[in-house]
Amino acid sequence: MIQLSKPFLGKEEVHAVSQVVKSGNIVQGKKTAEFEKKIADYCGVKYSIAFNSGTAAIHSALFSIGVKRGDEIVTTPFTFIGTASPILMLGAKPVFADVCLDTFNINPEDVKRKLTKKTKAVVPVDLFGQTCDYEALEVIAKKHKVSIIEDACQAIGANSGNKSAGAFGRAAAFSFYATKNMTSGEGGMVTTDSIEIAKKCRLFRNHGQKTGKNYDYLFLGYNYRMTDVNAAIALEQLKKIDSLNKKRIDNAKRISEELREIEEITLPIIKKGNKSVFHQYTIRVGNSHRDKLREFLLSRGVDSRVYYPKPLHLYSVFKKYGYKKGDFPIAEKLSREVLSLPVRPDLTDREIMRITKEVKNYFK
Ligand SMILES: *Cc1c(COP(=O)(O)O)cnc(C)c1O
Repeated sequence: MIQLSKPFLGKEEVHAVSQVVKSGNIVQGKKTAEFEKKIADYCGVKYSIAFNSGTAAIHSALFSIGVKRGDEIVTTPFTFIGTASPILMLGAKPVFADVCLDTFNINPEDVKRKLTKKTKAVVPVDLFGQTCDYEALEVIAKKHKVSIIEDACQAIGANSGNKSAGAFGRAAAFSFYATKNMTSGEGGMVTTDSIEIAKKCRLFRNHGQKTGKNYDYLFLGYNYRMTDVNAAIALEQLKKIDSLNKKRIDNAKRISEELREIEEITLPIIKKGNKSVFHQYTIRVGNSHRDKLREFLLSRGVDSRVYYPKPLHLYSVFKKYGYKKGDFPIAEKLSREVLSLPVRPDLTDREIMRITKEVKNYFK
């Protein structure tokens, strides 16, 4: 079976972890601090704060800009639940805006329509490794005095123009879960240029406990700390991320060349000026062929997945907000049509030929 994704862990990661274990300092410490510094440099931001997941990072970023009960947060319904669950955790209301058919990313025009006096922030998601239309989003955010919190969980290493994923908006969040382009096992990061946000995030991840003072709590916080074991893995991964991303980009290009001729499918579209890091290589398959194609590929030993089979507004956790089928037609259409094919950095040329040949075979 040609797997869809797997982590790339080598002897460097093994060695780094064993050093940490031998040192005895296995909780949050020097390695985490070093990782934070390196991510800030990598993304071109002033501060970065490590977490034990991407969801925790988003939760913390939203908390740090003051999101509270009664606020409205505009986000995309075509994403992983971890984008929107922090909105619920803070008692705020998730207000969805539909996405663009070509990039799968949030549509700035629809964001504009969803803003109210209660809107506090917009959370765009750099889906599948391509950054959103921040040029348009930032104009809207400025005009309406709302913050942008970038969900860059799938986009480490991506950029638009000369700006990296993680450097858009007031703050951004990364995930280093095992299936992401780089991993620490579980892990996350907030990146920001704001010292206030950075300070609040550091408190929030540690029970709201005053720095340097034990058992003095400024507000309700959580235990969202990253461990040095995870940070040690991540530091090694960060050394490899550019070459891993480059292989994904090369593989995507090869796959697109091979599949160009097939009328029934739409290839991934990367906007001018954007560098996508192809967290996923996602095609659209028309005329109800998607599920049959997936079955066929499975029978031929090629894995593929549907990200995402159901847009968020149709899940029961959002039920109380009264969303229904038909509210976000593009996101719903995409849920019926998308299919992500393997684009892993370690795919061989033969595997790429096999994947594309089997897709072609299906449509023959
Ligand atoms: C992975 C992911 C998250 C959540 O990250 P975890 O580390 O799994 O908590 C949030 N948003 C998006 C878009 C993701 O892909």
